[in-house]
Amino acid sequence: MASFASRLAEIQATIGRHAEKAARDPAEVRIVAVTKTFPVERIREAIAAGHHRFGENRVQEALPKMAELSGDECEWHLIGHLQTNKARMVEDFSMIQSIDSVRVVDALAARMHRPLDVLIEVNVGEEPQKTGASPAEIEPIVRALQSNPALRLKGLMTIAPLTNNPEAARPFFHSLRLLRDESRQRFGVELPELSMGMTDDYPAAVEEGATLLRLGRALFGPRSL
Ligand SMILES: *Cc1c(COP(=O)(O)O)cnc(C)c1O
Repeated sequence: MASFASRLAEIQATIGRHAEKAARDPAEVRIVAVTKTFPVERIREAIAAGHHRFGENRVQEALPKMAELSGDECEWHLIGHLQTNKARMVEDFSMIQSIDSVRVVDALAARMHRPLDVLIEVNVGEEPQKTGASPAEIEPIVRALQSNPALRLKGLMTIAPLTNNPEAARPFFHSLRLLRDESRQRFGVELPELSMGMTDDYPAAVEEGATLLRLGRALFGPRSL
């Protein structure tokens, strides 16, 4: 089995090629290693390879791992839907990438005792079964965040519709970037981060402006579930 370090090196080379194609600095593209379903030993292997930025999509799964690795100076991102009754449990995350309603903003604002970076998750494809705010719902969420300065809006996140054609994701990444540019103008916010691109579609995301890639299988191999 390939090691985390060798997979990471290969991914970094791929990022480099696609960043160059888009005339971007590859240093603008950071990797969030998605550790859901993977045990703490695999995360330790990543830390040993020098990687410290991780993502989990469920609070209940993340907290025990975070506790076990609390001596390791890791940065944890919540990338899955946050239920409002879990809002008080996210104090130790560095970033919540999955803000998708005013209700979640209000629940977090009522419970956070320190500043927290957040992204708005946008369902760009407007797929009915999927989490994420519709593009039209961005405005009320931005307004709610603007009245709660402890929640620091850093940008937008999306999950492209699942297909087996990596290029099919590109228009959704492009749309997220346009939404970001438009929101920046309309709301007078900076929005530097674009979290988009997963194992099957990250090269297109790099070309379309991603600053955060969320990679699970590319780094850890197949999930056995
Ligand atoms: C699981 C997950 C990922 C990573 O998926 P891979 O296909 O393994 O890279 C990225 N983003 C979210 C929101 C996820 O739930």
